[in-house]
Amino acid sequence: MAEEVCCLKTQLKEKEEVIAALKKKLAQLEKNPTAVLELHDKVTPLTSLTPKAALSNEDIMRYSRQLLLPELGVQGQLNLSKTSVLIVGCGGLGCPLAQYLAAAGVGRLGLLDYDEVELSNLHRQVLHGEENQGQAKALSAAKAVKRLNSTVECIPYHLQLSPENALQLIQQYDIVADCSDNVPSRYLVSDACVLNGKPLVSASALRMEGQLTVYNYRGGPCYRCLYPVPPPAETVTNCSDGGVLGVVPGIMGCFQALEVLKIASGQGSSCSQQLVMFDAQDARFRSIKLRPKQPGCAVCGENPSVTQLVDYEAFCGSAATDKCCKLNLLSRDQRITVQDYKSILDNAGPHLLLDVRPLVEVDICHLPFSLNIPLSSLEDRKSEHLQLLQERISELKQQMASDCRPPVYVICKQGNDSQKAVQVLEKMSGSEVDSIAVKDISGGLMAWAKRIDPTFPQY
Ligand SMILES: [Zn+2]
Repeated sequence: MAEEVCCLKTQLKEKEEVIAALKKKLAQLEKNPTAVLELHDKVTPLTSLTPKAALSNEDIMRYSRQLLLPELGVQGQLNLSKTSVLIVGCGGLGCPLAQYLAAAGVGRLGLLDYDEVELSNLHRQVLHGEENQGQAKALSAAKAVKRLNSTVECIPYHLQLSPENALQLIQQYDIVADCSDNVPSRYLVSDACVLNGKPLVSASALRMEGQLTVYNYRGGPCYRCLYPVPPPAETVTNCSDGGVLGVVPGIMGCFQALEVLKIASGQGSSCSQQLVMFDAQDARFRSIKLRPKQPGCAVCGENPSVTQLVDYEAFCGSAATDKCCKLNLLSRDQRITVQDYKSILDNAGPHLLLDVRPLVEVDICHLPFSLNIPLSSLEDRKSEHLQLLQERISELKQQMASDCRPPVYVICKQGNDSQKAVQVLEKMSGSEVDSIAVKDISGGLMAWAKRIDPTFPQY
């Protein structure tokens, strides 16, 4: 009997310790809501959002300034709290968008991004901080959003949207916001929204310009209605090539948040069948009416040929990332590596190094002994540049044995434009300028910075 009492006491003590530990863990999590965030690497089924019957006193206090708006009111706020929004891309557009949707009290935010935070993101992707470098963008964004409003449910997805997962993911959300930056993703997101019957708030930003449209909303057109055929891959510029002033996606992401909130609250968006264009240089918004939903559209038309998701990279002829794609225009003997070029320099072999980047990039960094003639000037046969090139070739010829063709090595940032320049120069060689032996430096200045000179700036 005494033995049994003793044993029960011990068991009880153990259970009490377990309970105490659980209470402690719970208190810690409640104090720090970001600790409950779990990064999803695949699409999992979500429980449905439970609609609130009424606003709590805390809700009333937090949202009081927007509750005062007749356009929103209590019903609009309750509508927001039962809406889920999927944000595709936690970059320059997705950061301000997620921030304002969370601040306004949207019920659930799905934050999707396959990428990690880098230093060159921070000038525009303002939810991420220096300490988040190397971290999944989806998680970094979710943590920032949770700090702002812990009552918003955040689901960070560290994965790439694909034809395999897009339908399952998008069907779990009420509204989708496309903040991606490449053409294949735009078709994928749009088709998945049409097939799931979800409105799509889409924006883009590049250099000093932004655009916004709401697709597949209240009988309006989808992305394919307006762009049935993808643009040629080489005509598409992304932010890492073309540059962007951070505040421009900031403005467009805020604009996306506005339209999402109008749809979610029940007020409705007026951007269906309408393209809003922002010109940051002139500080002006313009709006043009788009053509309506097309009966012959391949996905939302009367007899659709696209009834399931397809291979969008093949359809568009480009990759579904913003990373630079590597061209391969030349044969192996037309290219040298940065290591080869380093040994040419070390051996003081006479040659001409031609940097074909635009002047704005040469101002950022360049090799001191290079001659800068932008690719566009070569393509346009600009006379002052051709003259300069001919002068340098003549100087080089004087330093060399007479029967040799002077070697010209062409460099750019990553080794794509330099290959195009080699092709142009080969056509010019022997006719427009003296005969030259022209080669591309593979991987360009970024390869030089990585493999030869770590002090050379990367951008
Ligand atoms: Zn359509």
